[in-house]
Amino acid sequence: MDRIAIIGAGPSGMAQLRAFQSAKAKGLQVPEIVCFEKQNDWGGLWNYTWRTGIDEHGEPVHGSMYRYLWSNGPKEALEFADYTFDEHFKKPIASYPPRAVLWDYIQGRAEKAQVKDLVRFNTAVQHIHYDDATQKFTVDVEDYAQQRHYSEQFDYVVVASGHFSTPRVPVYEGFDQFHGRILHAHDFRDALEFKGKSVLLVGSSYSAEDIGSQCYKYGAKQIYSCYRSKAMGFKWPKNWSEKPQLLRVDENTAYFGDGTSAKIDAIILCTGYLHHFPFIEDGLRLRTHNCLYPLGLYQGVVWEKNPRLFYLGMQDQWYTFNMFDAQAWFVRDVILGKIALPSIDEMQSHTQTLHEKEQRLMSDEQSARFQGDYIKRLIAQTDYPSFNIDAVHDIFMQWKKHKKENIMGFRDKVYRSVMTGKMAKPHHTPWLYALDDSLESYLEDEAQREAM
Ligand code: FAD
Ligand code: NAP
Repeated sequence: MDRIAIIGAGPSGMAQLRAFQSAKAKGLQVPEIVCFEKQNDWGGLWNYTWRTGIDEHGEPVHGSMYRYLWSNGPKEALEFADYTFDEHFKKPIASYPPRAVLWDYIQGRAEKAQVKDLVRFNTAVQHIHYDDATQKFTVDVEDYAQQRHYSEQFDYVVVASGHFSTPRVPVYEGFDQFHGRILHAHDFRDALEFKGKSVLLVGSSYSAEDIGSQCYKYGAKQIYSCYRSKAMGFKWPKNWSEKPQLLRVDENTAYFGDGTSAKIDAIILCTGYLHHFPFIEDGLRLRTHNCLYPLGLYQGVVWEKNPRLFYLGMQDQWYTFNMFDAQAWFVRDVILGKIALPSIDEMQSHTQTLHEKEQRLMSDEQSARFQGDYIKRLIAQTDYPSFNIDAVHDIFMQWKKHKKENIMGFRDKVYRSVMTGKMAKPHHTPWLYALDDSLESYLEDEAQREAM
């Protein structure tokens, strides 16, 4: 029987486990699957850790999420087509759940599929090598629970190790003299650390927006954010000022491209992440920046130079969980021989065309549409339940509008599920005032709150 190694049990790896289980449930014979996960539980980034730097085993900490993180997009845009929020929570919930609620949801489907025993936890993949003669991959792992290093051979490998974990850390003049703390978003854990302080955020994407909003919500005195190419341009609260490029800092002051300066206590580098796969040998290693259509991956997942190797979730993400599903179902069907791959030249030329198309996208609207169309193409080739991707696109456009109207209030909006047709229920407390982000607090209903 063929053997498949899945690297990582985050949302992408869990989607792959579920995809094979669904084929098995339909009576198909599936290969033996081993999923290696270096953390002690599944859920990937959604499995919160207070740790930063190095984990208990000496591995780089994977987690980039922080306390009080709520979904930054509507849950209706990421809902699984085969397992709805209503099925999981048995009642309507609001549209922007906190981290613990989404983690619970992801786990619910995987537990229902009974695939946890396929995962070897506390086991880090340290090297992957392919042998042309035997057509097998050798996967070297360290099992930290058993204190054992071993190697196994596989016919296929699916890399689902994520790409928002290794920080991109730029250096600015004066960093070595600055008296306050300098950290990357990857190491940010709790906004309360910055209560009463003046904080500078470098970067102008989702991390800068959300970490700044956290700092505002939990009582920072003053927030500055600065952009390299494009301002975020939201209507910020009075104590948040958006500046152009950071030029340098000294002991306690930041200097910006427009000639202004500001006294600051801390600097948070919200400067994105690197695609970093030190455990994969050179010829198999994806090298890309964060984009919608990386070169080297046919249909966004098949390693063109060796189509026994696959990567999941390596794109920049408008869509997340349901895109990982569409990819996982496609990969499954390639492995099961239900989808035939064209020649390497055809695969490369197909990818090149879409990669170039991405360069011509001019707006967020076009980018979201581009990724939605990609998912449509994948789903059309498998039995993943089809859903209305144009309706999800409309949700993204409403989301953008709501953020523009009120960056501290957009999470109070609700949307209709494209899977069930049902409307979400507004949360009991506006996001700005909801300081308890626990699952229990989030799921409380009016009767329970009145009784308290
Ligand atoms: P990950 O979640 O990163 O999981 C990868 C897994 O691989 C991890 O469990 C890791 O331990 C494991 N792994 C890595 N290397 C190895 C190895 N060598 N050996 C064994 N195991 C390994 N998306 C949304 O839809 N909504 C949001 O609100 C949202 N918020 C986010 C907030 C932050 C701060 C970040 C960084 C991302 C956020 N995302 C959000 C996007 C996020 O990328 C996806 O939701 C999702 O977690 C990606 O799943 P993944 O499985 O591809 O990767
Ligand atoms: P990102 O989207 O890749 O953005 C990186 C930012 O860093 C860009 O603004 C980029 O500017 C800037 N940058 C890079 N190098 C720089 C340099 N040398 N100097 C100055 N600026 C530099 O990364 P991200 O914002 O960390 O987001 C990553 C993922 O996390 C996204 O999927 C996002 O949705 C997710 N996230 C979600 C939440 C949540 O609330 N749930 C919170 C945080 C993050 P340029 O535009 O000039 O390149």
